[in-house]
Amino acid sequence: MLDKRKFYINGEWVSPSKNSDFNVINPATEEPYVTISLGNEDDTNKAVVAAKNAFTSWKNTSVEERITLLEKLLKIYKRRFHEMTQAISTELGAPLDWASSAQTASGESHIEDFILRLKKFEFETKFDESSDNYIVYEPIGVCGLITPWNWPINQIALKVIPAFATGCTMILKPSEMAPLSGLLFAEMIHEAGFPAGVFNLVNGDGAGVGSQISSHPDIDMVSFTGSTRAGKLISKSAADTIKRVCLELGGKGGNIIFADAYPNAVRDGVRNIMSNSGQSCDAPTRMLVEKSIYEKAVEEAADEAKKIGVDLPSKSGDHIGPVINKSQFEKIQSLIQSGIDEGATLVAGGAGRPSNLEKGYYVKPTVFTNVSNDMRIAKEEIFGPVLSIIPFESEEEAISITNDTPYGLGNFLQTENKERARRVSKQLRAGVVQINGNAPEAGTPFGGYNQSGNGREGGTWGLHEYLEVKAISGWK
Ligand code: NAD
Repeated sequence: MLDKRKFYINGEWVSPSKNSDFNVINPATEEPYVTISLGNEDDTNKAVVAAKNAFTSWKNTSVEERITLLEKLLKIYKRRFHEMTQAISTELGAPLDWASSAQTASGESHIEDFILRLKKFEFETKFDESSDNYIVYEPIGVCGLITPWNWPINQIALKVIPAFATGCTMILKPSEMAPLSGLLFAEMIHEAGFPAGVFNLVNGDGAGVGSQISSHPDIDMVSFTGSTRAGKLISKSAADTIKRVCLELGGKGGNIIFADAYPNAVRDGVRNIMSNSGQSCDAPTRMLVEKSIYEKAVEEAADEAKKIGVDLPSKSGDHIGPVINKSQFEKIQSLIQSGIDEGATLVAGGAGRPSNLEKGYYVKPTVFTNVSNDMRIAKEEIFGPVLSIIPFESEEEAISITNDTPYGLGNFLQTENKERARRVSKQLRAGVVQINGNAPEAGTPFGGYNQSGNGREGGTWGLHEYLEVKAISGWK
């Protein structure tokens, strides 16, 4: 059993003010593997005081000083890359190959990209050539960063690195369901030599440290990634202190497959949703298929889902691992049952654990066809390897079904007709649209419309989230 009960506050590893042990369960074995502490108000306050004190000098550091420290951190991250992969594989149950190539790699690419954006960012600009007005971007202050378990280091890097880059100080509360990657990242930050108090980590749950962060009068901004449920609570709790609230929330993406889509579009769509065991906020969990190719698409989707192995995270290969915990496992099982009860046709997977595994929160890659958009499986974020296939007849109908959701995060469309692709992508109410399997480049903005959130992370947009804008007149 690992002992990770300390917090990182003011440049030191410190014990919690009161014993509050929390044993975290390994999703692959259902056995506890690490003890962390759940912080209380005293711990949160200590971290806030440290961050507030550190802000006085950190905000005045030069861009060059911050770049030097970020480059040191990048070097350390690369050196300890395999440790990070091991941590993510253990906490999330992600198979090692996937944890390495997708999860750990995302952290490295965010650090690299933010260094690049920071080098180009203009913190001071003239309003226009003839004016004596001047615009200055300044760090917002002390930031509370609250992250989920499903892409742990991806989410942490998307918040911590731009906060560093812009001259903010911070308190990170990673998910108590996946604490190892955050703690390891804190070790790397310490090794890189960031000044004491600039970065602090306090573990805890949502009701405790999470709520203390969102309501704290000395925290200027909260950046949250997680469920829409928690996002609403955080917004309410932050209201009294008028802090900036940036939310990256859930999704129920659509993947529109027109009859002229490239040959592997259906199979790629299935792989896309099943990867990370279906636990991605922008997964295209509703596949919309044009009626003329519907039967063929259903056959291909079922065939592809049956080919996806489910197995232990320690094995190499391109299988999927378990979902994060018992409550997610049970939620997914009940949603699979609701699909059956509401009359959708099950063509792959279904309820229960795969027959090759006796323990662990493993779910079968599941495909439902003949789904209508008012069924629970089409409306609710399942967060498991479950795909719903919905037929459509016209472009207008496909757009209308895709947009008929409270969410608006990631949508996908597949057609060889470039003009139609551009037309449809502009009609989709979502922060990200991917045409024909082309993934967004590093540094493009990521975030949602509607109840998928209100912020944009990544690249220059990600830096702006941590900045105040000051207009100074009479500058000349
Ligand atoms: P969650 O909302 O349960 O928890 C996320 C984090 O918030 C955890 O650290 C948790 O302790 C904390 N938290 C929970 N309640 C809180 C409260 N009332 N106040 C303050 N903090 C609170 O989400 P999860 O189960 O960890 O993650 C899955 C969710 O995250 C999914 O809905 C997924 O779509 C979403 N997600 C969104 C994005 C995005 O960029 N839009 C990315 C990844 C995950």
